[in-house]
Formats: sequence, structure tokens, C-alpha cells
Amino acid sequence: MATLEIRDLHVTVEADNATKEILKGVDLTVKQGETHAIMGPNGSGKSTLAYALAGHPKYTVSGGTVTLDGEDVLEMSVDERARAGLFLAMQYPVEVPGVSVSNFLRTSATAVRGEAPKLRTWVKEVKEAMERLSIDPAFAERNVNEGFSGGEKKRHEILQLELLKPKVAILDETDSGLDVDALRVVSEGVNRVRESGEVGTLLITHYTRILRYIKPDHVHVFANGRIVESGGPELADKLENEGYEAYVKGGPVAG
Ligand code: ADP
Ligand code: MG
Ligand code: MG
Repeated sequence: MATLEIRDLHVTVEADNATKEILKGVDLTVKQGETHAIMGPNGSGKSTLAYALAGHPKYTVSGGTVTLDGEDVLEMSVDERARAGLFLAMQYPVEVPGVSVSNFLRTSATAVRGEAPKLRTWVKEVKEAMERLSIDPAFAERNVNEGFSGGEKKRHEILQLELLKPKVAILDETDSGLDVDALRVVSEGVNRVRESGEVGTLLITHYTRILRYIKPDHVHVFANGRIVESGGPELADKLENEGYEAYVKGGPVAG
């Protein structure tokens, strides 16, 4: 059973010639097969957590540890993290000009699996995954994220998730900007991956809406750079009714 363990994680960024601490001691354990939701107000540091786990160079880990099956994730390059079984879907996915979705998926799968997938079975695998996500076949020949709508970007992420079968998937605001139909398709994809029982999922979100479709085992409230409360699914209902105000010093935050 794969386990992602985050212990007392502190992360800083450089802004206006000063070092600013954004994450102030995050503790979290995500096991294969579990679904965790991290919910919190805008600006609380949720994406910073995702970036730090992804190994983004702008985010400096100033304290704490992150391990996957006991292996030091923070020592790994971005590629090594993917090969170790970490999957990260970013809130703002980047464009990859000149690289088609089809090539991108095959290259990623080759990197993660350690060998190129057999072409015949691979083509079938991709076709079926795209059908399940209601993605037009022509999409495979478009350049990654170039001119993609919000919904297309998110479907593409879930397509990667289904094909790469990571040990732990971190999805940052996969629900943002989706209409109800796209939200349902994306949620179904996450649930399929989840039902395999082989993936641990960390769902980062500002809104409770997606939790009507994806039922987390654990819910964590994130505020001011750390987890301030953890509970079961009932905590999401409480947040839906009461918002984050109780957790944020100085009252409500601007969106
Ligand atoms: P959330 O995802 O919860 O909305 P973020 O992690 O995006 O929060 O941001 C948390 C805080 O860190 C914000 O005050 C934001 O301005 C700051 N921050 C995040 N990334 C950077 C960066 N690259 N440079 C400067 N400040 C940043
Ligand atoms: Mg934000
Ligand atoms: Mg964010």
C-alpha cells in the first residue's frame, strides 16, 4: 500500500525582494485507496501545497518532510516524482506548443511505466478512455492545452490520470470553471480511478460543489498555510452551510 506522508511542511516564496512563508507546517497522510478533500479560502496556500509537491522551482521547502512509501520526495526531480507514482493536476495547466495530446500521453506513459506502451493496445486504451470522458477523437491531434477551454483542460487532466494510473493523485481545483455536465464527467473519471482502490486522491478545492459527486473519506480545512481541522464527509456539509469565516482570522476573505 502506497502512502504519501507530509510532515510539518513549510514552504516559502520570494516576493517583492522578501521571503514569505506560505505553508506553515502542513501534516497529512494519504494512503492508496483513500480520497481526501482539502478545502479552504482563496489565498490560504492550497495551490502552494500542490506546487511544492510537484517540485516547482519557485516554491522553496524551508522545513519538514514529504515521503512516498518512505522515499524522500523532496530529493526527487520532477520526472522522478512522476515515476515514483505521484500525479499532479495543476489549477492552471500550461500549454505545450508543438506537442499533440496523443504524443504527450504516450511520452508520459512511457516515462511512468519505464517502457513504451505497445502501440496496438495503447491506441485502444486511449480511445476508450477518451470515449468514457466524452472527448472528441480529433482532440488527440491538438497541441496540449493550446486554446483548450476550461472544461477541455480538466478533461485532459482526467484522461492523463486514467491512463497513467498513479499511486497518489493531487488534483488542484479540478472543479473550477466547469459547467454541470463537465463536472459530472470529470467526477465520474475521478470516481472510476478511485474505485480501482489503487490510487490515493487528494482533491483540493475552494467549493463544496464537487463533493456532491465525489464523496471523500476525509475532509480537511485549510487556512493560513496549514490544516486547521480534519473530519469525515460531514465536515464538507458544515463548510457548505457555514463557509470558512470561522477559520479565517479577521473575518471573511475576498475571493
Ligand atoms: P490558494 O490556492 O489557496 O488560493 P495559493 O497557494 O495560490 O492559495 O496562494 C497562497 C498565498 O501565497 C497568496 O498570498 C499568494 O499571493 C502567495 N503566492 C503563491 N504563489 C506565489 C508566488 N509564486 N509568488 C508570490 N506569492 C505567491
Ligand atoms: Mg486561489
Ligand atoms: Mg489555488
